Amino acid sequence: MYDFDLLVIGTGPGGQKAAIAAAKLGKKVAVVEKRDMLGGVCINTGTIPSKTLREAVLYLTGLNQRELYGASYRVKEEITVADLGMRTQHVIGREVQVIRSQLSRNRVVMLQGTARFLDEHTVGVTGDEERKVTAEKIVIATGTSPARPPTVEFDDRTVIDSDAIMHLDRVPETLVVVGAGVIGIEYASMFAALGTKVTVVERRERMLEFCDLEIVEALKYHLRDLAVTFRFGESVAAVERRPRGALAILESGKKILADCVMYSAGRQGKTAELCLEAAGLAADDRGRIDVDENYATPVPHIYAVGDVIGFPALAATSMEQGRLAAQHACGEPVANMHELQPIGIYTIPEISFVGKSEDDLTRDKIPFEVGISRYRELARGQIIGDSYGMLKLLVSPDDRRLLGVHVFGTGATELVHIGQAVMGCGGTVDYLVNAVFNYPTLAESYKVAALDAMNKMRAIARLTDEF
Ligand SMILES: Cc1cc2nc3c(=O)[nH]c(=O)nc-3n(C[C@H](O)[C@H](O)[C@H](O)COP(=O)(O)OP(=O)(O)OC[C@H]3O[C@@H](n4cnc5c(N)ncnc54)[C@H](O)[C@@H]3O)c2cc1C
Repeated sequence: MYDFDLLVIGTGPGGQKAAIAAAKLGKKVAVVEKRDMLGGVCINTGTIPSKTLREAVLYLTGLNQRELYGASYRVKEEITVADLGMRTQHVIGREVQVIRSQLSRNRVVMLQGTARFLDEHTVGVTGDEERKVTAEKIVIATGTSPARPPTVEFDDRTVIDSDAIMHLDRVPETLVVVGAGVIGIEYASMFAALGTKVTVVERRERMLEFCDLEIVEALKYHLRDLAVTFRFGESVAAVERRPRGALAILESGKKILADCVMYSAGRQGKTAELCLEAAGLAADDRGRIDVDENYATPVPHIYAVGDVIGFPALAATSMEQGRLAAQHACGEPVANMHELQPIGIYTIPEISFVGKSEDDLTRDKIPFEVGISRYRELARGQIIGDSYGMLKLLVSPDDRRLLGVHVFGTGATELVHIGQAVMGCGGTVDYLVNAVFNYPTLAESYKVAALDAMNKMRAIARLTDEF
C-alpha cells in the first residue's frame, strides 16, 4: 500500500539510527537527505568537524606537552587554516563513507533532496524535480541550524555563526565570541589555544550553569591563562564591519575591535521547509516539534527525534531517540531512555559529568560527601603532564551510592563512563574503594576520590557513632 514501511527525513545521528534500527527489524526503509549533508550537522558542520579541529589544535600547538617540554614547545610554528582543515576534511570524508556503507548494507534507500509533507503519509522530495514518496510511518530528524539575530548582518567572513567558523580563510588574531554556551566556549578555547586573543561576551553572569561550579571556575582560570577575556552580564548592541574585521559595540558602551565576531546564540529547528501543516503538525517559534515519551508527534504515525525536538540536543541522545522511535514505530517493546545521561564539553581542558551537581543536591536538601582526586597526585597525571585535572565524586552518606561524577582534564569525556556504569548499576562508593585499577592510569582517580570520600564520611561517623 505504501512505498516504504518507514521514511526518515534527515541523516544526522537521530535519522541514521532510526533508519538502521527499522531496517534491522526487516522493514522497508528510506532516508531523505540534502545534497552534501549525509551524516547531518553532526558529521558536516558540528560535532565531528569541531572535535577534529580540537584534536588538530592540540597536536599542532603542542599545548598538552608544554608542562613537560617547556612553554615554547610547538609541533608547528605557523599554524594555518589549511593545516587544520586538512585533518577535518579527512575525518568528515571517512565518516561519510562509514554512514553511506552502513545505510546501503542495511538496504536503506537513500533519496537525495529536500523533503516536504504533501499529506500525512506522503512526502515530496525535491531534487531536480519533485518525487512523491509514501510511507506508513515517518520519522522527522531534520535537526537545527544556528539562530541568527535579525539585527545582525552576517557576511560569513567577519561576522559569522558557528557553521562558518570552519571556513575562515585565516586564523584570526582577535575573535569575539557572542554567547558562552557549549559551542561558543568550545570554539573560544580552541582559538585561544591557537594564540587568538578571544573575548567572550555573555548576557548571563555565569557560563555553563549546569556544570559543577568549581570545575567551571577551573576552566575559566585556564582560559584566562590563554588570554581569554570574559565579559559576563554584557550584551552586544551592534556590530559594525570595518575594512579589516569588525567592531563589536556592547550595551555598556565598550568597543571591541576584532578580526572576526562569531555568534553562538542558540539554534533554530529546521522545520520551515517541511510544510508541517500538510501533515496536520506545527512547530513552535524556535522551530521545535512537540513529542510524547515515545517520540510520537500529535499525528501518531509521525515521529520526531534529535535536535528538532529540543533539549538536550546532543548527538549522543539523538541517536538513542532515533533507535527508540523506530522500535516503537515498528511495534517492538521499547525501554525508556536511561535517565543517567553524561554531558561532555570538549573545551581545552575538557569537562564531563553524570548525575547531580553540588548545586542540585544542595537545592534539593540531599546530603552528600565529596571525594576528590587530582591528576597531579596520580602517576599517569605526571607521565602525561596534566597537573590540573581532577575527578570529583558526590556520595550519599546515607547509603554510599554515587550521586554525581564530575571530571575536568585529560580524558574527562571517556573517564566519566566508569562512574556512569557504577551509578547505572546502583553501585556504591565501596565498589570503587575495593576495586583494583590498572596502574598507572587516570581511571585510578576513581579509587583515590572514593577513598577520600570514604575517609571523610568515616571521620564524621566516628563522631556521631553512625559508621
Ligand atoms: C559546533 C557543534 C558542536 C557539537 N558538538 C557536539 C558534541 O561534542 N557532542 C554531541 O553529542 N553533540 C554535539 N553537537 C550537537 C550534535 O551535532 C547534534 O545534537 C546532532 O547533530 C543532532 O542530530 P540530528 O539527528 O537531530 O540532526 P542533524 O545532525 O542536525 O542532521 C539533520 C539533517 O537533516 C537534514 N534535513 C533538514 N531538513 C531537511 C529536509 N527538509 N529534507 C531533507 N533533509 C533535511 C539536514 O540536511 C541534516 O543533514 C554539536 C553541534 C554543533 C553545532
